[in-house]
Amino acid sequence: MPTKCRAAITYAVNEPFRIEEIEVADPGPNDVLVKMAASGICHSDLNCIEGKMPHAMPAVFGHEGFGYVAALGSGVKGLKVGDAVMPYCVPECGVCAYCISGRGNFCVEMPAAFNPERASPYSRGGKKVMNFTGIGTFSEYSLVRDNQILKVRQEAKPDMCCCIACAVTTGVGSVLRTAEMKPGGTAVVFGAGGVGLSAVQGCKIGGAKRIIVVDTNPTKEAVARTFGATDFINPKTQPVVETIVAMTGIGADYSFDCAGYPETLKAAVLCLNKGWGKAVSVGSSGTDVAVPLTFFDLAGRTLTRTLMGGARRKQVAEYVDWFLDGKLKLDNLVSHRIRLDDINEGVAMMNRGESVRVVIEYA
Ligand SMILES: [Zn+2]
Ligand SMILES: [Zn+2]
Repeated sequence: MPTKCRAAITYAVNEPFRIEEIEVADPGPNDVLVKMAASGICHSDLNCIEGKMPHAMPAVFGHEGFGYVAALGSGVKGLKVGDAVMPYCVPECGVCAYCISGRGNFCVEMPAAFNPERASPYSRGGKKVMNFTGIGTFSEYSLVRDNQILKVRQEAKPDMCCCIACAVTTGVGSVLRTAEMKPGGTAVVFGAGGVGLSAVQGCKIGGAKRIIVVDTNPTKEAVARTFGATDFINPKTQPVVETIVAMTGIGADYSFDCAGYPETLKAAVLCLNKGWGKAVSVGSSGTDVAVPLTFFDLAGRTLTRTLMGGARRKQVAEYVDWFLDGKLKLDNLVSHRIRLDDINEGVAMMNRGESVRVVIEYA
């Protein structure tokens, strides 16, 4: 019998969510039915809803989920009903060249998980409702393939740990895995949202001696400092690149563009020193946005883009361990907790810049 539950459905670009009942299919042999306990709202969800990342609709978005196993298929190994789990938007087949090389975040099965036209376990009145990245966590129940599920420690708190599935993994990982930061350098983080503040925390763990945060919202300075920022630049009142070059002498060693606009990525490259500066593109304002860099902007500098902070599933579970063991701080990351019924207000808070991370708590 399919599971009936409530979900936030998006019917068209820029339309508000509608909270409606959906049916979630029974688990196939390799599926896990997850009773969601919490889900963060990420800017990538908003990019889809605003049409900047095109996606088939109606759809259930959400990809920062935390829940408990409600049922599982006969072929699922290492899990039982009641286990604490997190769906991860990147699958891991374990046998492709990326998975074998340790870069499972680029697994060849990922395009299928992200294909908005693929099969979905969600339906309403007999009509298909898509689930974003194969996990669609803005729903009381989610049906997820076992290669997109990670088991986490049972004592992990859903409202705090759900954000690890994207914001923390992407931000911290962009520093420690993608940039492979060496201690003692200077780092610049553009954008102090959930991902950016996680990148600040990654810089702190990575041993950066100076962490400069750039954001147009001056209220972000105080929270950025609690994660380890040493300096704050507001581009509305100071020229960003010139200020950073003056502060660092020759330019920064590392930069992380968590804002994801053409002008922020360009500034992230230009604020680097020309000997060994490394820029990581982290955020995105759309799938077809181009960045105006000249050939010589890149002279001596490295520019790459992270995908989920370079993390495979088990490494995401390690971040949960880091949090439970006190190495990662998340207290100031989750700024608002809401009910599913209030998701439209949650998105409005994000758009007004009032929140860091808004988390939906399910009953
Ligand atoms: Zn995300
Ligand atoms: Zn693979």
